[in-house]
Amino acid sequence: MAQPQLENFRRIVVKVGSSLLVDSEAGEVRSSWLAALAADIAKLHSDGREVLVVSSGSIALGRSRLRLPRGALKLEESQAAAAVGQIALARIWSEVLGAHGIDAGQILVTLQDTEERRRYLNARSTIAKLLDWRAVPVINENDTVATAEIRYGDNDRLAARVATMASADLLILLSDIDGLYTAPPAQNPDAQLIPVVESITAEIEAMAGSAASELSRGGMRTKIEAGKIATTGGTHMLIASGKIEHPLAAIAGGGRCTWFLTPANPVTARKRWIAGSLEPRGTLTIDAGAVAALRAGKSLLPAGVIRVDGQFARGDAVVVRGPDMHEIGRGLVAYDADDADRIKGRSSPDVAAILGVSGRAEMIHRDDLVIGPAGVGPMA
Ligand code: GLU
Repeated sequence: MAQPQLENFRRIVVKVGSSLLVDSEAGEVRSSWLAALAADIAKLHSDGREVLVVSSGSIALGRSRLRLPRGALKLEESQAAAAVGQIALARIWSEVLGAHGIDAGQILVTLQDTEERRRYLNARSTIAKLLDWRAVPVINENDTVATAEIRYGDNDRLAARVATMASADLLILLSDIDGLYTAPPAQNPDAQLIPVVESITAEIEAMAGSAASELSRGGMRTKIEAGKIATTGGTHMLIASGKIEHPLAAIAGGGRCTWFLTPANPVTARKRWIAGSLEPRGTLTIDAGAVAALRAGKSLLPAGVIRVDGQFARGDAVVVRGPDMHEIGRGLVAYDADDADRIKGRSSPDVAAILGVSGRAEMIHRDDLVIGPAGVGPMA
């Protein structure tokens, strides 16, 4: 299959590793490299793309600011170093993107934010709103509160989860190597870069496992793990070198890299997940007007709901059925059962008055809704 073109992607997550951002000798941010990357991001942004950044570097930067000695840090030391480093990191991103008139918005996530459905929906709507406002979310793990058992630890997998959560169509991992090789390139002069991986087979995984140093072994392994998360979630991924200036411009110009292709797109992958793997916790019965709106691709608003059954929490899967009691679809509901019952049949201004807060406009957002063909449920 041919290599995709960068210009065809709409929502792009760019992951930047600590070793690219921070010069470990000087202990300082590599500012001219970062300014060049920010210029690349600004170019994508001004071309109408939505860009998200997953940036590592909090621990490395904190370490240098605090002048900590070399060597492994204890858990509480890394957490405390991250607290110092993250402030510096946020400021740097805000400055380099601000130089192009772009607002950066910091989001610190933990494993639970991406794994628990309710929190997942919250993080996702915040990201969506920032993108709506044309800001660039700058995301890192919340290293200061994430302890060993509940932590990603590596931003490759974190970036992949963020990319699928944000329904991004492309994840770019900027690395110290320009892609996946058939064998360790440092030791094997015949090693070939693989330009396109159509699916992550056992053979591909074995190549990652045999990469050069201890460091890059772990590095390529987590990148392949990230590739699995991204491609099953409908997001293409690519690994490219971040060691050059203007790395994104190089990719756009057809530079060396490895693409990991997904057969799906983020919305269909997500919808398959909703349709297939979630146990519905309740049922929303909706009126004929809402049935027609849903079939036309709209979201489900509280006004169209006539009856709420079951005990469900925000983010749970529910069945949606028409006035004739036939299932027409399934979706992730944005309110828990009690609130859903209180606001059913009400218009949006009433909803705010009833709940005392202005909640979400939709009962189920269209991206979280799977509608079956007319006359049959989505499972048929
Ligand atoms: N979240 C960590 C940091 O900002 C980095 C994890 C990684 O390097 O992948 O320091």
